[in-house]
Amino acid sequence: MTDVLNLPRPAWMTEDVVLLEEQARRFIAAEFIPQLEKWHEDHFYPREVWTKAGAAGLLCASMPEEYGGGGGTFAHEAVIDREYSFAGFDTFGASLHSGIVAPYILRYGTEEQKRRWLPKLATGELVGAIAMSEPGTGSDLQGVRTTAKRSGNGYVLNGSKTFITNGQHANLVIVVAKTDPKRGAKGASLMVVETDDAAGFRRGRKLKKLGMDSADTSELFFEEVALPAESLLGIEEGHGFYQLMKELPQERLIVATHAVAMMERALALTIDYVKQRAAFGKKIVEFQNTQFELAECKSEVTVARVFLDHCIERHVKGALDTVTASMAKYWTTDLLGKTVDRCLQLFGGYG
Ligand SMILES: Cc1cc2nc3c(=O)[nH]c(=O)nc-3n(C[C@H](O)[C@H](O)[C@H](O)COP(=O)(O)OP(=O)(O)OC[C@H]3O[C@@H](n4cnc5c(N)ncnc54)[C@H](O)[C@@H]3O)c2cc1C
Repeated sequence: MTDVLNLPRPAWMTEDVVLLEEQARRFIAAEFIPQLEKWHEDHFYPREVWTKAGAAGLLCASMPEEYGGGGGTFAHEAVIDREYSFAGFDTFGASLHSGIVAPYILRYGTEEQKRRWLPKLATGELVGAIAMSEPGTGSDLQGVRTTAKRSGNGYVLNGSKTFITNGQHANLVIVVAKTDPKRGAKGASLMVVETDDAAGFRRGRKLKKLGMDSADTSELFFEEVALPAESLLGIEEGHGFYQLMKELPQERLIVATHAVAMMERALALTIDYVKQRAAFGKKIVEFQNTQFELAECKSEVTVARVFLDHCIERHVKGALDTVTASMAKYWTTDLLGKTVDRCLQLFGGYG
């Protein structure tokens, strides 16, 4: 994809990050782009996408090498995420797997849990998901009704989840459940469920959406699922909300990273199109209105990218606060909608 912004390389993009970016770009172009149209039409991408990405070193890039990861930082995750968006494969839930699920295990898991799960997440043998939302509870997570009740040496999990990214492929699901329903937010814990042999676990529908067709956003059901005690992430019950809140800046930054890359892609595709398409004896790009539109879009996307680079830089140094990360998520995703719409108009009916 043409680099339409042509900005100087930001400081967070060190030499090894640039090398990873090039490697990711080549791999995605060779292995995934040729099949994207089919996957979008099928509303599904195959399971082997995960193991291929793992073999290419594109999963868990920021996890320590001793746990099978790439030994990098969020900068490494960011360039991979961007490449998926540049390629138009933003439906692939790898950024959730590598940038959300794996970090929960790294930061809050016991040594045994890290050794058990992280290496398999890095290869793609395990596909991660995080199951918070329920049919009756989305924004207001304190209202989750899924329970993990103590039983013998372990727990019994009951509940239903919806809108779960990677829901059809995931076999390592972090489930938000109440271990003590009487204690409200302080009674929630994160339970890690290996679903391959979990009796009582069932996948529901892959949900229809307005877009992101090939993403396997799904319902998941847990009915009397017996879990060993070591399924509790960490060693103490009741820390679920604290753990969820603590990771929000990175989760918001991942969304902003995708949003900016998607805008860059929209601009690149549009510039390419208006240079080729002619009307009234001129290329579309020669009309002053087209130039005004593209100049304004490019100005806004450039500002978004510079702000994003600032946020990534701060996050890599461990200094990104939750308010700034929220601003990045809010502003870039809002601008994404506007930019894509303006670009789309320049395609006329073909848009
Ligand atoms: C593509 C996709 C992927 C997703 N992936 C996952 C996933 O992997 N894991 C997961 O757990 N969830 C996932 N979700 C679910 C997502 O986190 C929820 O949709 C989100 O939290 C909102 O919850 P809700 O849909 O129940 O909306 P509701 O909470 O019912 O909100 C409805 C409306 O009310 C507004 N509202 C809510 N509370 C307030 C308030 N206090 N003040 C003012 N307005 C308010 C909201 O802004 C919204 O406009 C995904 C959703 C989508 C669409």
